[in-house]
Amino acid sequence: MNVAVTQPLVFHRPGDGELAQRLRAAVQGDVRFDRASRGRYSTDASIYQVEPIGVLIPKGHDDVRAAFDICRELGVPILPRGGGSSQCGQSVGAALVIDHSKYLNGVVAFDADARTVTVEPGLVLDALNAWLRPHGLWFPVDVSTSAQATLGGMAGNNSCGSRSIAYGNMVHNVVAAEALFADGSEGWLGPEGAMQHAPVRMRELVAGLRAIGEREHDEIARRVPKVMRRVGGYNLDVFHPQSERPYTPDGSVNYAHLLVGSEGTLAWTRTLTLKLAPLPKHRTLGVVSFPTLYRAMELTRHIVELGPSAVELVDRTMIDLARSNPTFRPVIEAALVGDPDAILLVEFSGDAAAPLITKLDELATLMGDLGLPGQTVRMTDALAQKALWEVRKAGLNIMMSMKGDGKPVSFIEDCAVPLEHLADYVDQLTQVFAKHGTRGTWYAHASVGTLHVRPILDMRRDGAAQMRAIAEEASAMVREYKGAYSGEHGDGLVRTEWVAWQFGPRLTRAFEAVKQLFDPDGLMNPGKIVRGTKMDDARLFRYAPGYQPLRLDTALDWSAWNVQVDPVAGTLTAPGSGGDPAQGFAKAVDMCNNNGHCRKFDAGTMCPSYRVTRDEEHVTRGRANTLRLAVSGQLGPDFASAAVREALALCVSCKGCRRDCPTGVDMAKMKIEFAWHWQKKHGLPLADRIVAHLPRWAPWAARVPWIANLRDTLPGAARLSERIAGLSAQRRLPRWRSDTFLASAAARAACDASPEVVLLVDTFSNYHEPENAHAALRVLTAAGYRVAVARASRTDEAPARPLCCGRTYLASGLVDEARREARRMVEALAPQVAAGATVVGLEPSCLLSLRDEFLVLGLGESAARLSAHALMIEEFLAREHAKGSLRLPLQALPQRKALVHGHCHQKAFDVLNPVVSLLRLIPQLQVDVIESSCCGMAGSFGYQAAHYDVSMRMAELSLLPAVRNADTDVLIVADGTSCRHQISDGTGAQREAVHAIRVLAGALA
Ligand SMILES: Cc1cc2nc3c(=O)[nH]c(=O)nc-3n(C[C@H](O)[C@H](O)[C@H](O)COP(=O)(O)OP(=O)(O)OC[C@H]3O[C@@H](n4cnc5c(N)ncnc54)[C@H](O)[C@@H]3O)c2cc1C
Ligand code: SF4
Ligand code: SF4
Repeated sequence: MNVAVTQPLVFHRPGDGELAQRLRAAVQGDVRFDRASRGRYSTDASIYQVEPIGVLIPKGHDDVRAAFDICRELGVPILPRGGGSSQCGQSVGAALVIDHSKYLNGVVAFDADARTVTVEPGLVLDALNAWLRPHGLWFPVDVSTSAQATLGGMAGNNSCGSRSIAYGNMVHNVVAAEALFADGSEGWLGPEGAMQHAPVRMRELVAGLRAIGEREHDEIARRVPKVMRRVGGYNLDVFHPQSERPYTPDGSVNYAHLLVGSEGTLAWTRTLTLKLAPLPKHRTLGVVSFPTLYRAMELTRHIVELGPSAVELVDRTMIDLARSNPTFRPVIEAALVGDPDAILLVEFSGDAAAPLITKLDELATLMGDLGLPGQTVRMTDALAQKALWEVRKAGLNIMMSMKGDGKPVSFIEDCAVPLEHLADYVDQLTQVFAKHGTRGTWYAHASVGTLHVRPILDMRRDGAAQMRAIAEEASAMVREYKGAYSGEHGDGLVRTEWVAWQFGPRLTRAFEAVKQLFDPDGLMNPGKIVRGTKMDDARLFRYAPGYQPLRLDTALDWSAWNVQVDPVAGTLTAPGSGGDPAQGFAKAVDMCNNNGHCRKFDAGTMCPSYRVTRDEEHVTRGRANTLRLAVSGQLGPDFASAAVREALALCVSCKGCRRDCPTGVDMAKMKIEFAWHWQKKHGLPLADRIVAHLPRWAPWAARVPWIANLRDTLPGAARLSERIAGLSAQRRLPRWRSDTFLASAAARAACDASPEVVLLVDTFSNYHEPENAHAALRVLTAAGYRVAVARASRTDEAPARPLCCGRTYLASGLVDEARREARRMVEALAPQVAAGATVVGLEPSCLLSLRDEFLVLGLGESAARLSAHALMIEEFLAREHAKGSLRLPLQALPQRKALVHGHCHQKAFDVLNPVVSLLRLIPQLQVDVIESSCCGMAGSFGYQAAHYDVSMRMAELSLLPAVRNADTDVLIVADGTSCRHQISDGTGAQREAVHAIRVLAGALA
């Protein structure tokens, strides 16, 4: 194959010192040139890593204009960037990255009658659609990454959604664009007729483009694929439409369409005017189960004739992965008939429900006629449909959660072929994978012939050679079937070399001429679409051959990640055998594939610090990247670096990512690991030591609570504590009590010799809110259980001190102390656990440590046994209720409504539902859940003066407004001690939340 590489990528960084200085003097926005920031912007969702010269986060258009002027003078390339979720490497480069997702994300104009909206480029698709919903409209290019993809990035990539068969790609839905060009000129691009009165620069541009279009008229017809899903090169076919679906209804030219799909190589898009569609009032979903993938692909073209709005494939691997995920299992099971090899999700949408139900019948009949009777599941319920779409959307990410160095690699993932060839294409490519010792998982947009597939390759070893060989064979098939080599994700670094292959030398030269017209100095995102590098240029890989993490002794056990995968069988080697010099920690960090889903703002916890800062540094992805750079020595020889500490500073250890991140990146655990390395090297400040050792000094504080509480009663003491220990003077601290639970007669009496339930009372419930523990004891006793309160074992070196989960130690990185506490707990409870008792707790962050951190502290089998027996108290009671064995006499309360705020760890471990279902047992009580992320308090985080502001902003996102809006007779329920504190503080003590167990105890008949 001939590869047109006419200009190598620029690796030197001209004048970056001067650039940074001049930018700082000229702009209002954030200018970031430090190594870690550049590192965080050196990756997108591709296999590449290219360090930018610097990063500008502009506060307004003037900032961008000033940056363009400076870059032009210094000859510095410019790279516009939104969510950075591209798969081909188009959002990385040796340039000044301009990230407009933080500030330039507004709606500029809206015309409901014309059904258009004008937006800034950093607006995220989901945010736009949430804004449009009340108007009954939406922007229908529904990409899988809708929670993080920006409209600017979507236009840059000519993105396509699952419903493109009904609505087209981005190019079909952009009406106009305002742009800033590298030469400093600005202009509006839109329909040809409207360009006549444009400024001279625009008219010259338009005339030049038209001349190229006319000159290449025949070549466009010869070389541009005639499928709808074609996104490579520049859209020169505006002048001679080739797509199955013309870009404009009448085939007329719209010059904004030249910017669509241009990957930031032509201009910076300042605003976009978009065509909107009415929100379909109704949708139905038919799910067809197929015995083979081939059959599913073979029959797709018949299904398309029924006029669906989407036909999406989910293959066997994806089905199995979804089945193995506790959240997705019930959803996928409900959609299957038997044990299929593949399913197609066939959606119909419209304004009336009845015809859509008829469509489902037609689908079932069609399938029957084609030899698959009874294989169609009809879904008319909107929630059930939404849940299944979530599984499909998460498909790629579930697949990416594969451990080991072999990862599914995106490089032929969006080839598009005409539907009549789909089955053969899939079949042949599957054989190609097998020939090269790998396999791929198939999914996505069957309706338009764009099937996603990523073979599993190990880029650290022979992956590059396999990639090249597979690409050669796949491209030959695409040519044979007259398809498009890129049908969705664009060119970037992985496919620019294929532009010449796809479009031929003449159109390649024409694309260079287009580039010349827009950007004669070649400053805009160089090396993409024209004049690119080779796809397998190892200098650009994130994990190049020879990639090696630092040798690291770890505090936690990461061996579960220290494995390798067999690319064909998908099986993993034994834990600890993966060859990671960082004992598996580096491989755990590598689980982040940069898809950017942690930038979402919808329901779910992840990621509270990003929700308030909108900084790449303070999102899970940014943290994982910082850790990856540090653990591979790219931030210097010292893993315990200040850059990592800063990136982790606002992580509230909510474990939201553990649950919401599609690949299960568990930043809370990684933060513990890092904190251990940090404190070993730098020690711990006094303030952190005081908090960490709280379980040790708590018994003393409880003996003299009036002294311990002086901080909140003595004038000036709070201010002093802020100065000395960094505790925010704006906070009250939890109040010490002398009437601790464990010292109470009730607790002493609860000592059944063979208990069914062991009540584990944490430090906070014992010393600060003993009424919660009393309530728990009352409920358990009322339900008739034999109860024992958990006590430290008599053989312990300090038998009087209560058991502790060690969380405060973990938070400070004092892992050895935490391990000691955990061991004490494991040993003390071992006999009761062995006898079959269930250990129940009240405080989510404490009890759930037994199920999480205890398992990576190297405590062996007994910790695993305890973990298997540890439940939140509501979880235990709800489970008993489900078994029909809960006898709890409950009566109505004076309050008729309860609003529940879930502690982050409850959500992370899926144990909030039991709280709700249990409270719903109380007669006449309506129980609703507040759609909230983290409350912002997060253990000691919110008490620290340095975090007070961020903490309150987190709470104000949704929790505090919901609490304030609730009527005064509504019960506010929160199981987390710090959540309750935050609610009290945030409402000026106007509202006090209670633990669910107290509500239940209050309702005991
Ligand atoms: C798991 C996963 C699933 C995906 N699913 C889909 C899918 O269903 N459909 C699909 O089409 N894509 C998909 N993608 C690819 C990607 O998410 C989309 O292309 C998305 O629209 C990119 O948006 P972004 O904000 O992240 O853009 P970025 O990656 O930040 O930028 C994309 C390109 O646009 C350019 N750009 C950004 N802003 C501007 C601007 N203001 N002016 C000029 N140029 C600009 C950039 O330079 C870059 O070349 C997927 C990616 C992943 C990781
Ligand atoms: S942390 Fe998870 S959600 Fe965020 S980019 Fe990485 S893999 Fe995606
Ligand atoms: S633990 Fe919470 S705050 Fe930290 S990265 Fe994960 S989601 Fe964000």
